[in-house]
Amino acid sequence: MKIMFLGAPGAGKGTQADKTSARLGIPTISTGVIIREAVKCGTEMGLKAKKFIEAGALVEDSVVIGIIKERLAKPDCENGFILDGFPRTVPQAEALDEMGIALDRVISIEVPDEVIAERMTGRRVCAGCGASYHVTDNPSKDGVNCDKCNTPLTVRADDAPEVVLSRLAVYHETTEPLKDYYLAKGILKIVDGNGHVDQTSRRTVEAIGK
Ligand code: AMP
Repeated sequence: MKIMFLGAPGAGKGTQADKTSARLGIPTISTGVIIREAVKCGTEMGLKAKKFIEAGALVEDSVVIGIIKERLAKPDCENGFILDGFPRTVPQAEALDEMGIALDRVISIEVPDEVIAERMTGRRVCAGCGASYHVTDNPSKDGVNCDKCNTPLTVRADDAPEVVLSRLAVYHETTEPLKDYYLAKGILKIVDGNGHVDQTSRRTVEAIGK
């Protein structure tokens, strides 16, 4: 299955993508995780992307499309994959079509902006593997380290309240139009993401239909 999670920053895409990945045994590909890793390692792409991430802006389409092309060519994607955070613009969606990749489902996780702004203050991420947690809604087992790789959890710099506002604005202006794009293809499913993680997971399973 080829699934894409769409939604505002903090809607719970990463969390649901990881749970779906574990359930279906297919990898999650998160462009955000790949770009943050490149920033951390100081690669040429990472150095270019840094200022965009810090400002809550999108990295150039050509860069992100290149990342995805390379990643989807790896053998673990042969039996399907889950996209988290890609595509985020209509040209990115068109590039995916041009690669001959037809998604089976696009799951749009919807949460009101006011709830998002509140949620972001509690978000924690693993600097090692990129897994995402929340201090109250989805804590790691010991509350300080990642369940998967035991690396200490940190706060993302772009989760600062003023950056979150910019990211929400970018989402509504540039990414939300993708709902119409995938609605027209008949593969869009809307999931109410306002509530407990387990509730959203149940709705997600239903929307995927597997
Ligand atoms: P995320 O972890 O998905 O919230 O992504 C964090 C940041 O990485 C975004 O705010 C963008 O700066 C960048 N990014 C991730 N995915 C994309 C994408 N598909 N297109 C452009 N920029 C992206």
